[in-house]
Amino acid sequence: MAPLVQRTMTEPRVDCDLPGPRSAELLARQGRRESNARTYPRHLPIAPAEASGSFVRDVDGNVFIDFLAGAGVLSLGHNHPELVRSVVAQLGLLTHGLDFPTPIKDDFVEAQLSMLPAGMRDRTKVHFCGPTGANAVEAAVKLCKIATGRGDIVTFQGGFHGSTHAAMALSGLVAPKTAVPNGMPGTHFFPFSYCARCPLDLSPATCDTNCATYLERSLTDGNGGIPLPAAVILEPIQGEGGVVPATADFVRRLRTITRELGILLIVDEVQTGCGRTGTWFAFEQYDIEPDVIVASKALSGIGTPIALILYDEKLDTWASGAHIGTFRGNQLAFAAGAEAVRIVRRDDVLGNVRRRGAQISARLTPLMADPWVREVRGRGLMWGIELADPETGRPAGDFAGAVQSRALRRGLIIERGGRDDCVVRILPPLNVTADVVDTACSILVDAIETGHP
Ligand code: PMP
Repeated sequence: MAPLVQRTMTEPRVDCDLPGPRSAELLARQGRRESNARTYPRHLPIAPAEASGSFVRDVDGNVFIDFLAGAGVLSLGHNHPELVRSVVAQLGLLTHGLDFPTPIKDDFVEAQLSMLPAGMRDRTKVHFCGPTGANAVEAAVKLCKIATGRGDIVTFQGGFHGSTHAAMALSGLVAPKTAVPNGMPGTHFFPFSYCARCPLDLSPATCDTNCATYLERSLTDGNGGIPLPAAVILEPIQGEGGVVPATADFVRRLRTITRELGILLIVDEVQTGCGRTGTWFAFEQYDIEPDVIVASKALSGIGTPIALILYDEKLDTWASGAHIGTFRGNQLAFAAGAEAVRIVRRDDVLGNVRRRGAQISARLTPLMADPWVREVRGRGLMWGIELADPETGRPAGDFAGAVQSRALRRGLIIERGGRDDCVVRILPPLNVTADVVDTACSILVDAIETGHP
């Protein structure tokens, strides 16, 4: 297939039924040759050919606003020209470095540490992992087990931590692990502060963060059934779980009890990290300091894969080779990631996240009046609209699927998550413009308001 010549994309434009004929051909070939476990093209039936900034063009010439952004990876949009330049420059120098020190890796580590809160910078160590979020979650759990000599881990309902064995065991989704028995022994699930569907059936009016109380009591009850855990793993804002921000009281009490009991707190910032929620890491908005941070997706800003954990140097008790992996030294990712931090600072990208977040809030919050909308929630540039049947209150996954398809036909790529995939989610690039946000919100609002089942 001849490559398309990159042309500027400034607005969405869908000229045919989806998938278009060339996309349909590639999707059919993919279906014959690739795994049944593939996911995104089942709900978003397009074959992308090229992309730029917040836009993607498929092989049929249709242009979409991409508010999936590589599942939150492309923090500065597709092919940011300065990141491309830094990757190209590095390509001619050194591409793969195992875990040797290199100048560009040093630059990257310096940049990452500089983004931490001042009190953490000087006592934080970095471990480079195999380049996926799940691999870094595995590393975090191993580190905490080694450092404490304990084997149990507490995790939360609705959470998502990845698809490898331990990461899947720590995730809420039941179906994938039912098919793969015997996950990680010593995994304990507790309710998350998901107030729109309170797991304890309370309402904010009657609740005193009882989910935190339940956790506190379970961990301190000599008859509570759980040996003192090595760690608690928390997404400050559950992403795949449907964009559910933990409440401030929940997170602060969790930090207090884990400190008191000597349990390590891992924050999984794979999705919320690198500026997504308006601060570099989401935990900063809760005024807490975690013991271990897991980061991956947007670390390079352009999709060159990378994953790491940042942790208190006191935990650095593991031996050489405790968590190895061939692909821990992607120099292209280091080059892009160091440059991405410079751009985030220079262009006040975090300020843009907050401003565009306020814009999205203003555009989407009125949807709360829609009988099919249970809640509109988000932080920074991570938003979800939870859809529920107005009569039964059940998650309206089919409606959310229809909204996703309708939005795609109108030129907007969005994601879903949450129970029964009933939450339509957006993860725009962090440097998205006000105009693009405006167009995308119009498409999304229209896809919901005009499409009730
Ligand atoms: N943790 C969180 C919070 C995530 O959102 C994800 C991916 N969506 C992962 C871990 C796993 O990352 P990866 O797909 O790179 O393994």
